[in-house]
Amino acid sequence: MKPFTYERATAVADAGRSAAIPGAAIIAGGTNLLDLMKLQVETPDTLVDVTRLDMHAMEAVDDGFRIGALVTNSNLAADRTVRRDYEVLSRALLSGATGQLRNKATTGGNLLQRTRCNYFQDTNARCNKREPGSGCDAIEGLNRILAVLGTSDHCIATHPSDMAVAMQALDATVEVMAADGSSRNVALQDFHVLPGDTPHIETVLEAGDLITAVTLPKPVDGSFQTYRKARDRASYAFALISVAAVITIKDGRFDHVALAFGGLGPKPWRDPAIEDVLRGEEPSTALFGKAADVLLADARGYGHNDFKLPLACRMIASVLRDASES
Ligand SMILES: Cc1cc2nc3c(=O)[nH]c(=O)nc-3n(C[C@H](O)[C@H](O)[C@H](O)COP(=O)(O)OP(=O)(O)OC[C@H]3O[C@@H](n4cnc5c(N)ncnc54)[C@H](O)[C@@H]3O)c2cc1C
Ligand code: SF4
Repeated sequence: MKPFTYERATAVADAGRSAAIPGAAIIAGGTNLLDLMKLQVETPDTLVDVTRLDMHAMEAVDDGFRIGALVTNSNLAADRTVRRDYEVLSRALLSGATGQLRNKATTGGNLLQRTRCNYFQDTNARCNKREPGSGCDAIEGLNRILAVLGTSDHCIATHPSDMAVAMQALDATVEVMAADGSSRNVALQDFHVLPGDTPHIETVLEAGDLITAVTLPKPVDGSFQTYRKARDRASYAFALISVAAVITIKDGRFDHVALAFGGLGPKPWRDPAIEDVLRGEEPSTALFGKAADVLLADARGYGHNDFKLPLACRMIASVLRDASES
C-alpha cells in the first residue's frame, strides 16, 4: 500500500477544507476505501478521518427523518422508526454485506462506494473509470454483473449499493457541506451521474464536499414496502438485480408507486415512466409486462449479462403481484 498521512477531523468545517487539498480522501468506515487502497486502485496521500464528527444522529424532523452521514448501516436498519415507517430501507440494508461490515459501514460511505467491476479492481486491466482514456476491458470481457441500462461506450459499471436503491424509492435528499462551509441539498435522484464519456465522475460532488446527512420525506401512509434482491449467494453478495418498492393501492388500482432498481444501471435506477404506466391502473399480468417493457425499452445486454433482461421482467412482476395482493 502506498504510504499516506492520517489526520482526524474535529470539526465539520475543517474536514471539508482538508479533504479539498489534492490527494486527500475522506475516510469513514473504511470498508470500501481501504480495500481499494490495498489494491492500489485508490492511492490518496492523506486520509481525513471524519468518524469523530457529530454526524451520528437519527431524528424525526418536521418534513421527515434525518439520518446523519456517520450512522452505521446496522444502526439504521435496526432503528424502530425505520423498521416501522421505512421498511424498504431496513430490508435493503439487511440484505447487504455481513453483520460485521454493516457495523462499520456508514450512510455517507455507502452512497459513495465504488463499483465492483472486476476490471476496475485490477490495475493490470484497462478501465476508463480508474484511468480515464485507457479503455474498458469489461465491454468485451466478463460482464455478467454489469449494467444493461444507462451505459456508454466508455463504461458499463453498476452502482453496488442496496441502501441507495431503497433511498431512491423513498425520494431521499442528500445534505452536502462544501469546503467553504456552505450547505446544499441534492435529491438522490440527481446525486449520481451516468458515465457518458467521463465514467470517472460518479456524482455531483466537488472536491472537499462532505455528506453530512440524508433526509427521507414523511412516510407514505399504509404503503406496501419491500426490497427484493437476486444474487449468487444468500448472503455476502452484491445484487445481480434488486427492486425497491413503495406502493399503495386505492379502490383496486395502483395509487402511489415508487420503484427503484439496483444492479441494472450505473446509478440506483428510477424511471418515472414505469410509475406513470402503473398509476391509476388495475393490477394485471399484462400491466406488469407493460411496466417491464417500459423499464427495459433502452436496455442493452453485453453477452454475459443478457440474463438480466428476462430476470428483471420476472422480478418486477413478482413485486407488483405481491403489492396488489397485500
Ligand atoms: C465483502 C463486502 C461485501 C459487501 N456487500 C455489500 C452489499 O451486498 N450491498 C451493499 O450495498 N454494500 C456492500 N458492501 C459495501 C459496503 O456497504 C460499503 O463498503 C460501505 O457501505 C462503505 O461505507 P464506509 O463508511 O465503510 O465507506 P468508506 O470506505 O470509508 O468510504 C467510501 C467512500 O466514501 C467517501 N466518504 C465516506 N464518508 C463520506 C462523507 N461523509 N462525505 C464524503 N465522502 C465520504 C470516502 O472518501 C470513500 O470514497 C460490501 C463490502 C464488502 C467489503
Ligand atoms: S465497465 Fe467501467 S469500471 Fe468496468 S472496466 Fe469498464 S470503465 Fe472500468
